[in-house]
Amino acid sequence: MKNLLILGAGTAGTMMANHLSKKLPTKEWQITIVDKEKAHYYQPGYLFVPFDIYQPEQIVKSIDQFIPKRVKLVREPIDRIAKDDNQVYLGNGEVLDYDLLIIATGTDIAPQEIEGMLGEHWQESVFDFYTFSGASNLRKKLMDWEGGKMVVHICEMPIKCPVAPLEFAFLADSFFKNKGMRDKVDLTFVTPMDGAFTKPRATKELNYLLEQKNIRIVPNFNIERVDGEARKIYDYGGQEVDYDLLVTVPTNMGNPMIERSGIGDDLNFVPTDKATLQSLVKDNIFVIGDATNVPASKAGSVAHFEAEILTENILAYIAGEELKGSFDGHANCFVETGNGKALLIDFNYDQEPVTGTFPLPGVGPLKLLKESKVNHWGKLAFRWIYWNMLITGKPIPFVSSAMATAGKDIEPVPVG
Ligand SMILES: Cc1cc2nc3c(=O)[nH]c(=O)nc-3n(C[C@H](O)[C@H](O)[C@H](O)COP(=O)(O)OP(=O)(O)OC[C@H]3O[C@@H](n4cnc5c(N)ncnc54)[C@H](O)[C@@H]3O)c2cc1C
Repeated sequence: MKNLLILGAGTAGTMMANHLSKKLPTKEWQITIVDKEKAHYYQPGYLFVPFDIYQPEQIVKSIDQFIPKRVKLVREPIDRIAKDDNQVYLGNGEVLDYDLLIIATGTDIAPQEIEGMLGEHWQESVFDFYTFSGASNLRKKLMDWEGGKMVVHICEMPIKCPVAPLEFAFLADSFFKNKGMRDKVDLTFVTPMDGAFTKPRATKELNYLLEQKNIRIVPNFNIERVDGEARKIYDYGGQEVDYDLLVTVPTNMGNPMIERSGIGDDLNFVPTDKATLQSLVKDNIFVIGDATNVPASKAGSVAHFEAEILTENILAYIAGEELKGSFDGHANCFVETGNGKALLIDFNYDQEPVTGTFPLPGVGPLKLLKESKVNHWGKLAFRWIYWNMLITGKPIPFVSSAMATAGKDIEPVPVG
């Protein structure tokens, strides 16, 4: 019997357990998945919890219910991978042998990386919304916050779901408008990038929306420290920004287990071939989702496209064949713009977000790079799709892992 071991039962690990349990012969392969948590969180829902659009309990289910029966679920922290011995050490001292390893341990916030961010002001006047507890605490804070300077802030890139902080700023604008107190809130978006987003074409649209909603942008802000007493953030270039309420996205890092295993880069992301998803540290280790260092967005939609390619490549690897699947960096993200509307962006490693229709060429019903109510309903429907199709590895009709070009205003990609 051979062992396939999956580390992490979040979005990507759960998808891989579902795909591979259908493909690998039961008599030849034991599949095991390890996670320290009992709960599977629908992380895109963290955006809506602070604004009381979702209740915290609506975005949590048990990990167990999504793991197929033939897959053994081990609930234990992972201590480290001993890649030269093909073994994984767990927190309780148990050692798991593997023939094939899939790393899907994601990324988490690391507020300790920024001087002054943690401490007595953390979760009092300095909040995150990238964790279940952060989003739930911020919800309580916003219920009776009387207004002032709200700063929505990104510490450094890359972060998972790079549009989420912007969406937060847009939703905050409509939340305070609906409460009749927008005039009491001064909204500022502070980013280390030179504009609203990582991709120039989408940045143009998104900068315009910030202006329209009277949200000031402070670009090129590389944070050095937080002074919780004075309620200021400082950057290395000498800029400072005042806040009454700081909503920050701390540095995102891969799990410390990656560092203990000696296989990560300086942010604990695992060097990975961007087309095949085979790790660059050993050929029987594959990596998927936020744990990779591939230059795609860290998003559930990306993990979904990767899972299809990785399943093909794992089967090819087992059969001793050349890895056939090639991931193009396809990402597909809804961007909530407030007031019941959203944009949809579709792009890959080479192609900027384009205009056009999705998923059906010329028909839609979703419009790319254009605000609409239908896109907003698409974003809300994503929660149902996530629980019922995405993580259970069911195909989503008309949505392909490679970015489709039909019906889109594709721009020529420069060669070389
Ligand atoms: C606010 C927010 C909004 C988002 N919005 C969207 C969106 O609209 N669309 C979209 O596509 N994506 C969105 N995302 C991103 C998406 O949720 C992630 O990209 C996706 O969950 C990544 O999946 P993953 O499996 O790589 O990591 P995760 O789902 O985070 O899973 C990692 C798992 O590994 C486990 N683990 C890690 N280390 C260890 C260890 N040492 N021992 C044991 N277990 C361990 C963790 O417990 C966890 O269960 C959003 C994320 C956030 C935070």
